Amino acid sequence: MGQARILVVEDEVIVARTITSQLSQLGYIVTGTASSGKVAIAKALETQPELVLMDIILKGEMDGITTASHIREQLDVPVIFLTAYGDEHTLERAKITQPFGYIVKPFTTKDLRIAIEIGLLKHQLERDLRENRDQLATLLNSMSDAVIATNEHGRVTFMNPAAEALTGWQQKDALGNEVAEIFHIVDEITEDTLENPVTKVLREQQVVYLREFTSLITKDGKKVPIGDSASPLKLRPDQINGVVVVFQDLSERRQTKLLEQALEKEQELNRLKSLFISTVSHEFRNPLTVIQTAVELIEMQAANLTDAKRGIYLKRIQGAVQSMEKLMEEVLFMGRAEAKKLVYNPAPLNLEQFCRELIEDFSIVKSSVCEIVFSCYSDRTDAVMDEGLLHYMFKNLLSNAVKYSPRGGNIQFNLVCDSIEKVAIFYIQDQGMGIPEPDQARLFESFYRASNVQSIQGTGLGLVIVKRCVDAHRGKISVTSKVGVGTTFTVILPLNSELSLTEANK
Ligand code: ATP
Ligand code: MG
Repeated sequence: MGQARILVVEDEVIVARTITSQLSQLGYIVTGTASSGKVAIAKALETQPELVLMDIILKGEMDGITTASHIREQLDVPVIFLTAYGDEHTLERAKITQPFGYIVKPFTTKDLRIAIEIGLLKHQLERDLRENRDQLATLLNSMSDAVIATNEHGRVTFMNPAAEALTGWQQKDALGNEVAEIFHIVDEITEDTLENPVTKVLREQQVVYLREFTSLITKDGKKVPIGDSASPLKLRPDQINGVVVVFQDLSERRQTKLLEQALEKEQELNRLKSLFISTVSHEFRNPLTVIQTAVELIEMQAANLTDAKRGIYLKRIQGAVQSMEKLMEEVLFMGRAEAKKLVYNPAPLNLEQFCRELIEDFSIVKSSVCEIVFSCYSDRTDAVMDEGLLHYMFKNLLSNAVKYSPRGGNIQFNLVCDSIEKVAIFYIQDQGMGIPEPDQARLFESFYRASNVQSIQGTGLGLVIVKRCVDAHRGKISVTSKVGVGTTFTVILPLNSELSLTEANK
């Protein structure tokens, strides 16, 4: 039993007194009694009761219903009507004031108590509900994430201000519309319309996340990258009553990511540039030291320098000059390729003839070291390619095959022309030392040398040049290798690279 404070509005003095005494008996505090509507309003404002017992029939200008509605306009207080009879019309009117109960006269103390307690409880529950709703509304209105809610048919029932700002739709115009009209999403890259997450949630009955690279098309046709999720609204575990979509604008995040990537790329380029310069100067220093030492030795032994010794020193100088020349040529080639100034001159040539001539030239220099066996598996080997670049390409690949094979090793150089795919396929296969698996992916990086070739001379630029030449032809190069067994480089080039270039540029 509570200590609730109650205002009694009753124009029959005796009835008013009886009710007052019943209320006191029940432990309630009567804040006052009023016999007319006017007085009741004044007393309600003055005494701030927690509940009003209101007789429906009051003498004077205002009856109980009108009085109750005035009080409820100004105070959040529950009103229970006292009525001698319940005619339909009066009850209908009373409904407008949202009554918290009716007590039909004559009533017992018990009836009074039950009506008051239910009225107070109902009022408390309503207040809690209102507070929760207000809190939720404040939360939704102030959150920076956009929220759209729909009913179980996918029609919009709510949008918060962030959703209005992002979609360009006002809630009042969006209410009742198909959600796909307001929340139209596309693939950021292909711009294909994506399935609406609301439809998916209604079908799959579970939370759905927007996939990466989703963009929202706003009311005025702008494309905004967005992210997040859609969740089912369930009153019961097995019944979906609607869907809530929560999303946010990712433009800024996307922009930052792009900037970060550009910065990283720039830093990497700077790092590579410094590495390139330091490695090149280091590579030049080696032969320079050889030359300097040989010259010093010649000077020191000037008087008694034998012809044999002079020959040795001069040979050393010659070797050093040659390796500097080679290095310079490679660096210049790379520079041209990097600056996209690689001269690419495709012209008709016969590949079989080209390969045979190349091997002949090559074998004159290296014949003592390895045997190169050329096989051509096609009758028609006409092509349009850049002969100069082809020369670079295969000279480097054959040099490697020879350099990384034991003396007297056997090297296979095969050519196949596929007239259907319109490509030429070259295989250069050796039975040399092979390339350790972890190194294989990095062979085409400048100055990269595998871990098993430290004792063999080289700068690690040959394959970079090969790759540039292959790229200029819009071809492909790949490697398979096993340590101790051998290595095969496969080069695939379009038979008419000029044609494939024009097609690629279309
Ligand atoms: P250079 O610039 O003088 O050619 P290099 O031969 O070391 O020096 P690349 O031709 O670019 O440089 O080759 C890179 C690395 O790939 C080599 O250092 C070697 O480790 C590995 N490699 C290339 N071809 C072969 C091969 N046929 N067998 C084994 N290892 C190879
Ligand atoms: Mg090489």
